[in-house]
Order: sequence, then structure tokens, then C-alpha cells
Amino acid sequence: MNNSSKSSFSLLSIVCQTIGHKYVETRKITNHISEYKCSHCGREVTENSAGKIELLTKKVKEINNNVADFFERKKRKVTA
Ligand SMILES: [Zn+2]
Repeated sequence: MNNSSKSSFSLLSIVCQTIGHKYVETRKITNHISEYKCSHCGREVTENSAGKIELLTKKVKEINNNVADFFERKKRKVTA
């Protein structure tokens, strides 16, 4: 059982390497920046301020949290 789930995981990784990751939006940070997760292998990425995709590391996630916080506050100020 364990072996089969392990091999299917690596098979999905091969799929990602061959045809690319299948990213699904998991969180919207701003109008231009979102976080994504690959539904095949679970790899998490985000758009950065330059509009490029980068790996969603713990540090990057922290930055996104701050940006989302700032963006949310700014949005509320405008609508108030
Ligand atoms: Zn993937």
C-alpha cells in the first residue's frame, strides 16, 4: 500500500516534468499577485512583483502575508 502511493507520487512528478505543473490558484494576494499549488505534485509557487513565477518558500509566503495585509487595509481605506 505504502509502496504504491509512493510510486504514484513519483509518477505524478514525472508528469509535471514532462508536461508541466498544473497550478491551481490557492490565494489571491493582490489584483496582480496570487499563490498557486500544483494539483499533481503539491508544489507551491507565487507571482512576484515583477510578474514572474517563483517558488513559494516560507520567506516568500511571509512577504505575501505582509503585502496582502497592506493591500487589504488600503482597499478598506478607499471604500470607507
Ligand atoms: Zn507539479
